[in-house]
Amino acid sequence: MSILLASRRVAQGVYAKVIEGSTSEPIRCLSSVPGTFNEGNNLAYAVGLGVVLGAIGLGSMAVLADKKDATVVSLPGGISVELSPPPSGSFEVKITKTGDERVVDAVGNFPLITEKHRSLTAKALKADPALYAKYANVKTPMGFTFDQAIQAGIDAPHLGVGIVAAEPAAYQVYKEIMDKVIEGWHGYKATDTHQSDMDFERLKMTPAQVTKFNKHIVSTRIRAGRSIDGLALPPGTDRKQRRTVESLLKNALSKMSGDLEGIYYPLGGMTKEQEDKLQADGFLFQKPTPNNVLANCGAARDWPDARGIFHNKDKTFLVWVNEEDHIRCISMQDGGNVKDVFKRWAMAINSIEVSLASAGYSYAHDDHLGYITTCPSNCGTGLRASVMLKLPKLYKKMGVHALEELADSMGLQARGGRGEHSPPGPNGEFDISNKGRIGASEVELVQRMIDGVEKLIDLEEAA
Ligand code: ADP
Ligand code: MG
Repeated sequence: MSILLASRRVAQGVYAKVIEGSTSEPIRCLSSVPGTFNEGNNLAYAVGLGVVLGAIGLGSMAVLADKKDATVVSLPGGISVELSPPPSGSFEVKITKTGDERVVDAVGNFPLITEKHRSLTAKALKADPALYAKYANVKTPMGFTFDQAIQAGIDAPHLGVGIVAAEPAAYQVYKEIMDKVIEGWHGYKATDTHQSDMDFERLKMTPAQVTKFNKHIVSTRIRAGRSIDGLALPPGTDRKQRRTVESLLKNALSKMSGDLEGIYYPLGGMTKEQEDKLQADGFLFQKPTPNNVLANCGAARDWPDARGIFHNKDKTFLVWVNEEDHIRCISMQDGGNVKDVFKRWAMAINSIEVSLASAGYSYAHDDHLGYITTCPSNCGTGLRASVMLKLPKLYKKMGVHALEELADSMGLQARGGRGEHSPPGPNGEFDISNKGRIGASEVELVQRMIDGVEKLIDLEEAA
């Protein structure tokens, strides 16, 4: 059986790992760079071989070699690397492994997808089982399987996305289905490009609007997900890497200054009362229940180990550590001054980045996908800007469903008073936020929320 190789760049250098694959197609050499061939979890080691694997993912894989002649190099673990010059003069590389390997039977192992399965992933697999066959035997560079990626959407049929990334490279390795899901969810095509803009000065909000917003809005919150490049994401990570994420963030956050200064509270170090209070006040994530999406995708293992929350004295800047994403950076405050909240959020997310960079780490990012998150629904900006908006009259007049649809038609999402899938708050409060996350900049998404919320306020006043 042949093996596909992929590599990725991490802060410490370049390394490569084997993806067990089913193709026997040779992989073309795209460039020539001397280097080392390092060991991953399941990869043989051959320093000085002069082979470095570049780029990532099936189909886009580049294997870099500086060998001039055809040669077969045997590596421990029954892996051999064959380098042969094709007629064109560039190199082709064929990597094979002998010995027993578990091969997934793509027909016998096809997941049970019923009428109840509504996720984009389940629908794509049902419509084209060849997609499952294409990936059933393909692992990400860190060794995560396609079945792991899609498990949550199989076990929780109500989910809308149905696939997660256990490491950032999953977006490249499972590109065809990830692209379909991202296009289905965001309307963002594989050929589209993403722009980032976090300059709060470009946000338009007049003092008159702030006054109007303050009248109807209980509080404003902006959050974004981020991943630390080179470390497995929550659905796939192990205890050690999860603890590494926690200690990197604990250290990075200890360097915040001014308004952003605060303390990290590990979940395991809190009393139940402290945890309940933070949750009830809308500051802390919920503990996953067995049926929760985090539990289904594997991200709730070892709970509460290496999870926690950092916040400043006023709880206007908060960071969730190792929940659905490595990082959820949150800025929130009472009232409707979205610009102030955005300004603090942008400063905070940039400060964390700078602090992580001083330790040799960076946010996982890709020119096409923007910031890479566990769930494809958050890629791009990872940003959700929400206001807790009092809409008692509209709620009474329209009901939840019609209100949700109205928000949707404005590029917004209406959630309940306690987060996703919760009912409206006691005074007809809805959490109204931008729906999209990618293909528009942070400034554009927050502006969309401001403009839409103003319209909703006008409708409420007229109701
Ligand atoms: P996310 O996934 O974006 O973090 P959730 O829907 O899971 O959001 O909500 C997380 C928590 O944040 C919930 O307790 C929710 O009520 C709270 N929350 C969201 N938006 C606001 C807001 N504008 N003001 C106050 N609390 C908010
Ligand atoms: Mg959430």
